Amino acid sequence: MATATIIGAGPNGLSAAITLQQAGVQTTVLEASSTIGGGARTAEVTLPGFQHDLGASAFPLGIASPFFNTLPLARYGHRWIEPPAPLAHPLDDGTAVMLEHDLKATETNLDGVDDGASYRSLVKPLVDDWPSLCHEILGPVVHLPRSPLLLARFGIYGALPAATLARSAFKGERARALFAGLAAHSVLPLSSVFSSAVGLVLASAGHTTGWPIADGGAQQLSNALAEHFESLGGVIHVDHPVASLGEAESADAILCDISPRQLVGLAGNLMPGDFQQKLGRYSYGPGTYKIDWALSEPIPWTASDCGRAATVHVGGTLEEIIASEAAPWSKNAGPDQTARPFVLLVQPSLFDYSRAPIGKHTAWGYCHVRNGSSTPVFEAIEAQVERFAPGFRDCILARSMTAPRQFEAWNANLIGGDLSGGAMTPKQLVFRPTPSLYSTAMPKVFLCSASTPPGGGVHGMCGHLAAKRALADLKLA
Ligand SMILES: Cc1cc2nc3c(=O)[nH]c(=O)nc-3n(C[C@H](O)[C@H](O)[C@H](O)COP(=O)(O)OP(=O)(O)OC[C@H]3O[C@@H](n4cnc5c(N)ncnc54)[C@H](O)[C@@H]3O)c2cc1C
Repeated sequence: MATATIIGAGPNGLSAAITLQQAGVQTTVLEASSTIGGGARTAEVTLPGFQHDLGASAFPLGIASPFFNTLPLARYGHRWIEPPAPLAHPLDDGTAVMLEHDLKATETNLDGVDDGASYRSLVKPLVDDWPSLCHEILGPVVHLPRSPLLLARFGIYGALPAATLARSAFKGERARALFAGLAAHSVLPLSSVFSSAVGLVLASAGHTTGWPIADGGAQQLSNALAEHFESLGGVIHVDHPVASLGEAESADAILCDISPRQLVGLAGNLMPGDFQQKLGRYSYGPGTYKIDWALSEPIPWTASDCGRAATVHVGGTLEEIIASEAAPWSKNAGPDQTARPFVLLVQPSLFDYSRAPIGKHTAWGYCHVRNGSSTPVFEAIEAQVERFAPGFRDCILARSMTAPRQFEAWNANLIGGDLSGGAMTPKQLVFRPTPSLYSTAMPKVFLCSASTPPGGGVHGMCGHLAAKRALADLKLA
């Protein structure tokens, strides 16, 4: 029987492991941490009884993942919880622009008929063919498309800088702000080409499969993946940091749920020098500064609609979000964040009572900062929430802060606090991390992390596709 070793038990490592084990390859996962899940883990980090998602918390790509959807995860206790609205974006006038499940309802809360019509014409074709779009985009950019017209339509608008698309498609501030917040998930400056693509995908997800949280927290999703893998005969060892690829040399295939920089370190002189240089040129994006809050009550949003969504985009207008997302990329020695950062906030306990003691709540909020930055920005983050929810600070029972370097210490994949496994720049969208994608110039060694296509997010597709490549190249099955 062929054997494989997976280094790292993040969503992609576990997905690679399941794919190989399903194909009859005896697979072992080695995880450095004492808990599996990588960026999809949950723990008490503030007060007893308060369960915080330490990384991912909202899963628009998880519920849409063509691979996850083939797995019997419900059998292992996994359940998605879909809030009444996918997303809220509060504004200074005391209202919130809402991404509703219903396309029409979303259009009517934008400014005027024209913006509603523009929104519909951008999103409806993608919504109508959502499963096909997921198949097209959740994999390598260069491929033979099954739906070429759909992909072309997506590409025409997705390739635009989000700032350009927002300003040209919409006249009013509401639609512009909504789109800017969606596009900011690309972790690119909104002046960058292709920053619209993520915005269009996330808007379409809101009208189709949704933006769920995981019942019990992200850890439950990871545990379900792990239990399914073990039920197929796979083996997981935690507290097992791998320091060298030599440790796995007896396996027929080695799949690495790690970033290119780590792979260079683990490979040493096993990796040809020219490939090492290629991986050395791979670049990492902004870092992340995150706060987990234990709260005495729900966040007191001025716009009560914010209580209908788990995910809230706290950043005000298009122009403010443009400034906030540009700052971490600035090469000048200015501040690495604006005074008014764009904050991504998730408030899962409003919809999942297992997250906190009765009547109490949890939430997290983070913003993008310069890679590896050590500047504390928690006051700016909390000031932004307070701006749209006066009295928020009075609800805080405890907080836990994670700066970029602390993220990297927690999970070595988060280089300088980069949560996407490498910048999603146009070049690195296509050649991720090199033109060889999952292959590494070492015949039986493959990369399977978010540093391969389709990139960051909890969807397992990087791991699944890397495993398929290994099965095909090595003729293991
Ligand atoms: C704060 C934060 C918020 C996020 N929010 C969301 C969100 O809401 N929705 C979403 O979809 N995504 C979100 N993400 C992104 C998402 O978590 C990642 O894209 C995803 O986890 C990547 O999966 P992965 O398997 O490639 O890597 P990871 O999840 O990073 O897993 C890699 C694993 O490899 C292990 N490892 C590393 N080196 C070694 C070694 N040498 N030996 C053994 N094991 C090793 C690590 O310990 C880790 O467990 C967020 C990430 C962060 C940090």
